[in-house]
Amino acid sequence: MSDMSIDFRSDTVTRPSAGMRAAMAEAPVGDDVYGEDPSVAALEAQVAGMMGKAAGIYLPSGTQSNLVALLSHCARGEEFIAGQEAHCYKYEGGGAAVLGSIQPQPVENLSDGTMALAAIAAAIKPEDVHFARTRLLALENTIGGKVLPADFVAAATDLARAHGLSTHLDGARIFNAAVASGVEALALAAPFDSVSVCLSKGLGAPVGSVLVGTPELIEEAKRWRKMLGGGMRQAGIVAAAGLYALKNNVARLADDHARARRLAEGLGAHQAIAVEMPQTNIVFLKVDPAVAEAFSGHLEAEGIRVSGRYGAQRWVTHLDISDADVERALAVVDAFFKG
Ligand SMILES: *Cc1c(COP(=O)(O)O)cnc(C)c1O
Repeated sequence: MSDMSIDFRSDTVTRPSAGMRAAMAEAPVGDDVYGEDPSVAALEAQVAGMMGKAAGIYLPSGTQSNLVALLSHCARGEEFIAGQEAHCYKYEGGGAAVLGSIQPQPVENLSDGTMALAAIAAAIKPEDVHFARTRLLALENTIGGKVLPADFVAAATDLARAHGLSTHLDGARIFNAAVASGVEALALAAPFDSVSVCLSKGLGAPVGSVLVGTPELIEEAKRWRKMLGGGMRQAGIVAAAGLYALKNNVARLADDHARARRLAEGLGAHQAIAVEMPQTNIVFLKVDPAVAEAFSGHLEAEGIRVSGRYGAQRWVTHLDISDADVERALAVVDAFFKG
């Protein structure tokens, strides 16, 4: 791979900037398992405040944050409802089932990322010895780069509450949803008992997620985090990157969204490419099977890295993708179809 390579695979590939590294170097630290790391405490309080929740807990990854949330909400033999495409159902190794004896109840996602309310209602089990106890509804925003419609979130969480369920939001990219919709993260988080926020996606921190909720839930989460091996010591070094990201890298997500739209327009101008217009920073496209393999080979040879196979590609914009990178990538694509 040449050093001219441009990496659109994911918004997780960003490297900490000089400013972020300086903040990390200067971070005050302590032993966070003893609750003595001031930078971790500041990050937890800040995310909790931004989401309108009373408490927060810093975790090494979004996967562990969702897992700890599921373990804290649900007991052995209980179940959670989530979309068939939800990260916490499909992309986390079945952790809740493996480690918590918690049964997932997937429900089909519609093309806009929502689920039919009737399908959610039908998945909620009545009290009966035959059934696992339905305990939690988990939603995701953004999901597949799409912002969940507010009326769906309100109706689905109302439905959950009416059946005595708790609610969790996988808000790995909640700030993308906030910036794209012009609705504050606080309002997007309001209908949920707990929210998980990733710092290592579009926000550009090297690692880390924060789970927020009630003090009782977060106390329970601390126990599970320790058991899973996620209790970290002088974690302020990495938490400081999260604080820096929240201060400097939220509003600029709008640039990623604009670049994703520009990419989608440029890619979609070609007959052989069908593009979905992105709402945030993720562009999905389908390449005509007749040229898909040659197209992938051409991108690779030119140092354009993307996700996906068999002509179904995902291009993600992020902190380390500039306007010039977008234009160069589109020129590479143009050259393929002209050549
Ligand atoms: C990336 C992601 C996660 C998991 O985060 P990791 O830090 O990669 O474990 C969870 N949910 C969603 C929606 C994500 O995009």
